[in-house]
Amino acid sequence: MSFEQLGLTEELLKAVADQGYATPTPVQQQAIPLILEGRDVLAGAQTGTGKTAGFTLPLLQRLMVHSMRPQKPRPVRALILTPTRELAVQVYESVKTYGKYLPLHAQAIYGGVNINWQMRNLRRGCDIIIATPGRLIDHVQQKNVDLSKVEMLVLDEADRMLDMGFMPDIRKIISWVPADRQNLLFSATYSSEIKGLAASVLNDPVEVEVARQNATADSITEKVYGINREYKRELLSYLIGSGNWKQVLVFVRTKHGADRLEKQLQKDGIRAGALHGDKTQGARNKVLEYFKAGKIAVLVATDIAARGLDIDQLPHVVNFDLPQVAEDYVHRIGRTGRAGSSGEALSLVCPEEAYLLAEIEKLLKRQIPRVADTGYEPVSLKVVDMPKKNAPNKTTGKKDYRHKKSIDRRRASPGNSADKEVRRGSRGKARAAR
Ligand code: AMP
Repeated sequence: MSFEQLGLTEELLKAVADQGYATPTPVQQQAIPLILEGRDVLAGAQTGTGKTAGFTLPLLQRLMVHSMRPQKPRPVRALILTPTRELAVQVYESVKTYGKYLPLHAQAIYGGVNINWQMRNLRRGCDIIIATPGRLIDHVQQKNVDLSKVEMLVLDEADRMLDMGFMPDIRKIISWVPADRQNLLFSATYSSEIKGLAASVLNDPVEVEVARQNATADSITEKVYGINREYKRELLSYLIGSGNWKQVLVFVRTKHGADRLEKQLQKDGIRAGALHGDKTQGARNKVLEYFKAGKIAVLVATDIAARGLDIDQLPHVVNFDLPQVAEDYVHRIGRTGRAGSSGEALSLVCPEEAYLLAEIEKLLKRQIPRVADTGYEPVSLKVVDMPKKNAPNKTTGKKDYRHKKSIDRRRASPGNSADKEVRRGSRGKARAAR
């Protein structure tokens, strides 16, 4: 199938051709005609599948086809909500890229940056807003923007927004947009919470399922290195050096861990930078720019900071620490093997993380291949001692929150969420939590 067969207008086809896309990806093939028809769509598509163009192209076309009498200021007609600033910027870039031959104006609205210039721009009017929920709410409450003319609402990476405790914010925003609108909901995973959100937001939706539930892209080679914690850094430096890796995204659990690993790698002579929520937006943009331009080879990032990064054909992703929440594994490794290119996702797993690996494999419903010879003393990744719910740690005496249920509870509670940086940042208060 070609893009022409999808019924897109000349201007959009030209913009797509400029990108060098030969054929639409599966999510684009399925979603674009439905969205053009005006249907609500619930799409199970993970990042890297081309989902952004999958909703942006038909959204732009619908705004053009159903164009309104020119008004000043331009009313907001399409609203795209994203979980993070990075994703908001990325979707904004896509809207600009695909809409470059169209007279539509878009704006990205997110926290962590000065609110005043956003306010001035918003007051001038725009057709499309791409926003993180917290900052958008601030603007609506300050009457900088009016959402009463919104015709299309997109919830991008909705599962992530729920994980980050944005449900109340989403509900609030939905109460400000007209009931008579087209809704598109994209999510990598299909939890019961997502189904609940979909049932309350979408109107007679068509379901588009591109990847298998909780599946990872087939173009990604995954491997697990069983290794003691103290050798992880050494192994990582070895893998980067011996493989002559030019671009690798390394996930760590904490911002402190990100800074520490960045410095250790630099000591090993590797060009590395860290990306986490304690950095200013300017510093985050800069390190990302360096990474994209190949000025640094390794980007050490926390989950939240790395969310939504789209770096063309990122060849390597390393889980230096396994994620606490199994679904994050799918998101993390979705950074590689994007839109048909192949990638490698390696996880350095120490025995203390064996239970996290077990949770990931339970979610994936398959085992991730183990590397037989890591060059280090073999370790067992069998789960022998699943931490009991809230049991005190034998050595520290502190409560152990590693039990799945307590993790779930922490995730469900916005007040405790470790992923609060965007919400907090977006309100211009404390900077990131992670
Ligand atoms: P996304 O899943 O939206 O984050 O897109 C992942 C990557 O795929 C982006 O770098 C897009 O530029 C790229 N992409 C989107 N559509 C296509 C296509 N039809 N052919 C090739 N690459 C694409």
